[in-house]
Order: sequence, then C-alpha cells, then structure tokens
Amino acid sequence: MIYLDAAATAGYSENGDIEDAIIYSITRAMKEYWQNPSSLYANDVADRIDWCRANIADFIGANPKEIIFTSGASESNNMALRGWVDEELSGGFKTVNIITTPIEHKSILESLKNKNLYASIRYCDVDGFGSVDINSLKSLLWLHEGESILVSIGMANNEIGTIQDIKTISDLVHQYGGILHVDATQAFGHIPINVNWLGIDMMSVSGHKISPVLKGVGFLYKRNGVEIQPLIYGNQENGMRGGTENTFGIVGLSKAIDLCDISPSSVTDMCQKRDYFINLLKTKFDKLKLNGHNIDRLPNNINVTLPNNITGEALLYTLDMEDISIGTGSACNSSSIEPSYVLKTIGLTDEEAMRTIRISLPDEITYDDINYVVDEIEKAVRIIEA
Ligand code: PMP
Repeated sequence: MIYLDAAATAGYSENGDIEDAIIYSITRAMKEYWQNPSSLYANDVADRIDWCRANIADFIGANPKEIIFTSGASESNNMALRGWVDEELSGGFKTVNIITTPIEHKSILESLKNKNLYASIRYCDVDGFGSVDINSLKSLLWLHEGESILVSIGMANNEIGTIQDIKTISDLVHQYGGILHVDATQAFGHIPINVNWLGIDMMSVSGHKISPVLKGVGFLYKRNGVEIQPLIYGNQENGMRGGTENTFGIVGLSKAIDLCDISPSSVTDMCQKRDYFINLLKTKFDKLKLNGHNIDRLPNNINVTLPNNITGEALLYTLDMEDISIGTGSACNSSSIEPSYVLKTIGLTDEEAMRTIRISLPDEITYDDINYVVDEIEKAVRIIEA
C-alpha cells in the first residue's frame, strides 16, 4: 500500500520502526506507569508525565508549565477560543473580539458559530494562495484597538498546505494589544516551530498528525501570563483541564517528538520531493492547477485540480483499487460531498473544487514511489476518461 494521506492522519513508516519505538514506550508505560498520576503514592507516574511535558516544551522553546495536555487539536482549539472569551467576560461586560480567517479548520469555525459565545467574530481576508491578507488583518485590528482581541490563525492550512507568516502576524497583533492563537496541527513535526521567536501566545497541536498511533492526545501551549478559563473543570493540569491524564498517549507523544526529523536537510529534501512530484504531474497533465502557495507550503502537501471531467472522488476510488490512498477535500468532511469551503474561498468554482485532490506525502517517500504513483494516476485518469 502507498499511503499519501498523511494530513488526515500520519501513516506508518516503511518498516514500522518509528511506530514500534513509540508503541514500545507506550506499552512500557502501560506496565510501569498505570497508576493514577494524582494518587499520592504515584509520584513516579506524575514525574514521568512532567518529564514528557518538559521534553515537549523544549521542542517548541516553551516552559514546561506552559503545556496543557488535551485529547487533541479540536479540544485545544475550543479551549483556547472559548476559554479566552469566558475569561475576558468574567471581568465584567466588555466587547470581546475574535478575528480569524474563513479557511480555518472546522473545530475553529464551528466553535465560533455557537450562539452562546458572546464575542464578535470577524473574518480576515485571504488571497488566492490562501495567505492572510495583512492589510485586511490590520484594518480589523485597527477597528477594535483598545478592546479585547484574540486572533486565531492556522500555521498551515490542512487542505492546501499554505504556511502563514506567523512572525509578521504576531508582531501586528501585539502592536494592537491583541493575543495570537495558532492552530499548528498540520505544521507541527514538519517544520521547526519556536513559540517565542514566532511570538505565539497559544498554540494547538495533535499527536496523530505525527504518528498514527497517537490518536486522542495533543496539547495546548499557553504562554505564561495569558489567562483563559478551562473547558473541562477539574484538578488536573494545574486546574486547566480536568480528567485523569492520558499517561500513555503523553509518553508516546514525547517519544514521537524525539523521533521527529525537522533538520534543515530533511525539510529541504521533502520540499524537493514534493516539487518533483508536482512537476512530474504537470508534465503529464498540461491543464493541472496547483492550489495554495508554491513556496510558503508544507513540505509534504500537494493540492491540485485535475483536468476536465475527472473528479477527485473518481480518482480516489480508482487509485484505491491499486492500493494507493489519497485525499480529496479535508479528511474531516470526507463523508460530505460538499465542495471544500477552503478551495471555494481561494477562488475555485464548485466544479473545480470537485476535481481537486490532496496528496500528503509520508517522510520516507522515494523518487521511485513518486514515479510509480504518477504513472498510476495517469493510468487511472485514462480509465476514468474511457
Ligand atoms: N486543526 C487542523 C488544522 C487539523 O487538520 C485537524 C485534524 N484534521 C484538527 C485541527 C483537529 O485535530 P484532532 O483530530 O486532533 O482533533
């Protein structure tokens, strides 16, 4: 099987070595650290969790106290947005503003649609590549200067892979007295992230985008001094997130981070393979259109609109018969046949959006694999056209 849908959930490495190492650390923890971390006699379990917390914090340049473990990025996103609104309103009535973009993940957009969220929501424009329009952001910030402002922007889009200029955005947000939440789910483990250098105030991360065995674990980075209310009340995580900790997921996440290779040479290598894949596709289909930014793009993301009459869905099923897995829209709405709102926002018609596929590459893809897959795509298109 050739798995090319890493953005939906990370795939297994070629011989499974990386996952075996993570699973080993998890099963060891299951045998050694099974007691409730809150029990007075289980200091070793609490210490193991805190060791992982420090290891993960170190990876993003944070302080261990700034990491709150959650069940994944959907929870982290909801916690950041709703927790911030609750905190701001607890100080008395004031105007609370959230600025985001129309291409965020549903866990952001749907959370903001909730009628009980007493905040004014503004959507900042993005251009045809999916990059935040800095002038549009600036005018929204200017409009609300002096009020409470939270800006929530994804570091990299889950469908089109466009990476935002987070440093410029954070400088601007702070200049207007706002705070910045970043959904880094797709970028984490693929490009280096330093929360201090980038000026991030809160950041959401999910385990299963870096290893398939890490479903149901993630964290919210919350800079010291940023105040939010919990989403789930309880004692754990310093009162910020109730619920007995997912010790095994946390141990696995820490191990997965140790095994992440985001050295400049591997990031460059991945970008070169991605560009080779895109160029090879272009030589086969002259009407192929690349969606998203061609440079500020996740190293493993390819999102292309196919020539006339070939729907992404038809190609997905035809390739599936050859044991090749790709994505069409976002994994989170793959059961829906609605054209992707992300693609529509960047200017594609419904019909073009339906002809679009997302290929997200595994780390160890080879040039031979790419040649093989592009040949199979060419064959599949001919079958569909026939
Ligand atoms: N944000 C983005 C950008 C994502 O791609 C996803 C997963 N599709 C999420 C949030 C939600 O992550 P989780 O599955 O951990 O809740």
